[in-house]
Amino acid sequence: MTSKAEQAGDPTQGEPRNDLPPSKLPASCRGAVFDPASRKLELREFELPEPGPDEAVVRVVSSAICGSDVHPSLGHRAPAGPLILGHEICGVVSRLGENLRRDAAGGALSPGDRVTWSVAASCGHCFYCGDGLPQKCATLFKYGHETVDTRPPLNGGFAEYIYLAPGSAIYRIPDSLEFDDVVFANCAMATVAAIHRTARIRAGEAVLIQGAGLLGLCASALASASGCRAILVTDTNPDRLKLAREFGATHTLRVDEAGPGALEARAREIAGPYGFDAAIEVCGQPRAVAEALPALKQGAAYVLAGCVFPGALAEIDLRMVTTRLLRLSGQHNYAPGDLLTALRFLEASRGRFPFGRVVGKTFPLERISEAFDYAIAHQDILRVAVKP
Ligand SMILES: [Zn+2]
Ligand SMILES: [Zn+2]
Repeated sequence: MTSKAEQAGDPTQGEPRNDLPPSKLPASCRGAVFDPASRKLELREFELPEPGPDEAVVRVVSSAICGSDVHPSLGHRAPAGPLILGHEICGVVSRLGENLRRDAAGGALSPGDRVTWSVAASCGHCFYCGDGLPQKCATLFKYGHETVDTRPPLNGGFAEYIYLAPGSAIYRIPDSLEFDDVVFANCAMATVAAIHRTARIRAGEAVLIQGAGLLGLCASALASASGCRAILVTDTNPDRLKLAREFGATHTLRVDEAGPGALEARAREIAGPYGFDAAIEVCGQPRAVAEALPALKQGAAYVLAGCVFPGALAEIDLRMVTTRLLRLSGQHNYAPGDLLTALRFLEASRGRFPFGRVVGKTFPLERISEAFDYAIAHQDILRVAVKP
């Protein structure tokens, strides 16, 4: 959470701090509005918001198209109304409310700083915020998910500027990292940091990762850097499995080619007679859960993060969970500290894993419809980024 600042003796007290003189700040900027009725994107002009004491305005430098941005354009998710999509965002602080003097890690925060921030803002005082689950806040404000009727409407990444709500965990981007190295940090990488925290993955363990999308690749890299002795990544796409090796996987398995029981057999070969110490489901396939259970050791942690659609039904033998003392848990969004873990990991592992290749193509904001078409047509590219 952002901290209150010491304001004594500051000549700018009471006013937002700006990276440009107020006369040079634009009065308005463009944002790409997605209309769920027509499934079309259209550029519209918006007034640049005036940040309140705990708010900020950021000039967007890079915003990546995540799978969950593509779902509405394919009709798989129906937002409540027209909105600016995009939640994997980084940029430069343009205007800072008077109380925002430090980033969520406690370092000084100033206009002109390069930043990313939590995918959602929490109120800090509702039941779940008090219960240690700020990611499930009663009034959660999620970037790229609020409609343009929300005030101010500039709350998605596919725009020239974005408004940051109170309760956003803003972090400065480490100097050694480029914007494209971290644009996915506040979604995929931070979610994976939360999964690892929940699964309590330790050095020397054998881990099963189901899914070689960006989440699975991030999970593989984090498991590798954590000193896991064996990492099996499963998927149906051979190119993604090849890439998983570069992200630290020690073994891979094509689940579409493997027969029944193949995963369990591979588990004995790779992890040893007891099976995997931990497993992570990030493939979004309900049947993957039943496949994983016999591959786990007794007492293993199994974190499910991929099935976010309604009706993700799976038939599993609950005896496997009960009598084998499995620890099943779900993961959705993350706590602010997970984003800090993600940024520190990306900084520390720079050059070790090919995170610099995550963004495979970029488009300017005015070609955003083309960017979406490209992302849908090129599943081999992990992320297409829009650069306003
Ligand atoms: Zn995302
Ligand atoms: Zn709350």
